[in-house]
Amino acid sequence: MNSSNYYKLEGNKLVRTHRSCPKCGPSIFLADHYDRSSCGKCGYAVFKRKGQSKSKTTGRTPRKRQKA
Ligand SMILES: [Zn+2]
Repeated sequence: MNSSNYYKLEGNKLVRTHRSCPKCGPSIFLADHYDRSSCGKCGYAVFKRKGQSKSKTTGRTPRKRQKA
C-alpha cells in the first residue's frame, strides 16, 4: 500500500518529500534532522539554516542547539 514515505502524491504528480544525496545518487535519501538533512551512507549533510556559526565545526556537529 504505501510503497514509499519519500514521495507523496499531489494530484497525479509524484512529489519528493525528502532530498536525495547528490553523492550517492537519487536512490539514497537524506535523513531529516531539525537543522539539517544528512546522508547516512556517505555523511553528506545539508543545513537548513544558513549558519552564522561562531564556532567552526568540522565534521561532526554537536547535537546541542545553539542560539545565535
Ligand atoms: Zn550520500
